[in-house]
Amino acid sequence: MRQQIAAANWKMNLTFDQAENLLDEILKVPHDLQAHQKVVFAIPFPYLQFAQNKISEIRNFFTAAQNCYTQSRGAYTGETSAEMLQSIGVGYVVLGHSERREYFGESNAMLEEKVAMALTYSLTPIFCCGEPLQIRESGAQNGYVEKQLKESLFNLHEEQIQKVVIAYEPIWAIGTGKTATAAQAQEMHAHLRKVLAGKYGDIIAGEIPILYGGSVKGNNAKEIFSQPDVDGGLVGGASLIAADFTQIIDALK
Ligand code: PEP
Repeated sequence: MRQQIAAANWKMNLTFDQAENLLDEILKVPHDLQAHQKVVFAIPFPYLQFAQNKISEIRNFFTAAQNCYTQSRGAYTGETSAEMLQSIGVGYVVLGHSERREYFGESNAMLEEKVAMALTYSLTPIFCCGEPLQIRESGAQNGYVEKQLKESLFNLHEEQIQKVVIAYEPIWAIGTGKTATAAQAQEMHAHLRKVLAGKYGDIIAGEIPILYGGSVKGNNAKEIFSQPDVDGGLVGGASLIAADFTQIIDALK
């Protein structure tokens, strides 16, 4: 059965105390998830080990990094490797978030290297893709996102692509309060699944989780997640509010 994931992207927010309180608030609620339903917290690097210790015993809960480097180790001051993340038990890494593409110049080619590195160290990449507003307005979004997938993922072997999670995040919907409609999300997810099927076949494409990201909130998650090709969400702002993110986790059910 295809996995469903509620992923929190805390970005560069929260002090240590605030992070601890938020995690405690969310973890104290019994979530009672099925085996294929997962919750992932993409946590700032300084708190990752702490969060990992806190949730490693909780079934279906995992930590993620928000980035990793293209190399395993060496003289790359300020960078963090997939090998380091693996060594503290982190399970996932968000790669290619539009903020990293825009502010840190991450290209499809660089992301191809990062995805490969994550897989080498048994991290599940949450590979982000999505179009800016002007591309959406010109109607060219399908081709734009398809290109991101092809250039970063399509050199993976069959057994590798099955370990990737995709997050479709239209840039115009991130942090803007402007959500894609459930129908717009479904349309793009179905398109991406078709593109994946064209390369890897229907069975593999049918098993790859595709999350939606872009102003998911407690009160709209259920409708978006109910779409047949939407397998959960990658959530920024609302993941910083315990009650909201709890509602989003519950929307997986
Ligand atoms: C994100 O940063 O991945 C995101 C989707 O943010 P928000 O939920 O705030 O739009």
